[in-house]
Amino acid sequence: MSHITIGNEKIPKGVNAEIELGIARLPSGTKIHMPVYVFRSKFDGPTILLSGGLHGDEVNGIEIVRRMIDNHMLERLIRGTVIALPIINIYGFINFSREVPDGKDVNRSFPGSDSGSLAGIVANTLCTKILPAVDIGIDFHTGGASRTNYPQIRHAPEDPKSQEIAHAFAPPFILHSGVIPNSLRGQMRSMGKTMVVYEGGESLRFDNFAIDEAIRGSQRVLKHLGMIKNAPKPRVSHVFTQSHWVRANNSGLFRLKKYSGEQVEKGDLIGYIHGPANRYEEPVEADTEGYIIGHNNVPVVHKGDALFHIGQT
Ligand SMILES: [Zn+2]
Repeated sequence: MSHITIGNEKIPKGVNAEIELGIARLPSGTKIHMPVYVFRSKFDGPTILLSGGLHGDEVNGIEIVRRMIDNHMLERLIRGTVIALPIINIYGFINFSREVPDGKDVNRSFPGSDSGSLAGIVANTLCTKILPAVDIGIDFHTGGASRTNYPQIRHAPEDPKSQEIAHAFAPPFILHSGVIPNSLRGQMRSMGKTMVVYEGGESLRFDNFAIDEAIRGSQRVLKHLGMIKNAPKPRVSHVFTQSHWVRANNSGLFRLKKYSGEQVEKGDLIGYIHGPANRYEEPVEADTEGYIIGHNNVPVVHKGDALFHIGQT
């Protein structure tokens, strides 16, 4: 196949292109477009999707894709094609919100339809105008609300290709994670394609460690696929087959004693919950051994709130 089609545009081999896919107007009349960057080698190879901002407030993913465009690493591919989407959900981005304005989550709205809700329209735009051209995707996310994630790739272990991509990426942590219904990853799966999800940092806050890990991992994947020449040395990732949350056993002020990335043993003291007038102090303990793969940065918690996400081998 000599060209790929994105929306109405045909892009030949050896050509890089910027395309704007129209979504809908704001109530002000301003037109909203999804920006699409396409980088094509002259030589056949896989087509890789690098996407951020499916959740509009997850700015690390947007910055990861922006920096990969900005640092020219995608401009001279040895083979194949990269499609880079810095912001899928423009509406969430301009509103500092995960969702679109009616509260719907684009990542629960696939495959969507062009006559459905706005989230479904955004999802449908991806499904009909971009995904048919894609073989493998990496979708960049961060923790939601005030929760932060240590750099990790999530993939479905029953898909061997996703396993291969996760290990080629070589993040600090790899988490086996089932596909969420109506998600982008689920949609890719139903189209017979592979997608892994990167999680790093928290929403509305830049995390340079998470951003750098994502760029280095993407370079490793592109090198693994023979698309670029140089990438940082791989590492052996810690692989977790399951994970669970340690929740608040009382309400009050939450103070962390351990952080994401740290190894814990069962019974380790990992935080405290204090009554605001110091009438009580509740230790928070690790309920199993494992690694902290994410934690909550919120200073005030209710009983039952998710505090530490523990990954186990
Ligand atoms: Zn997300």
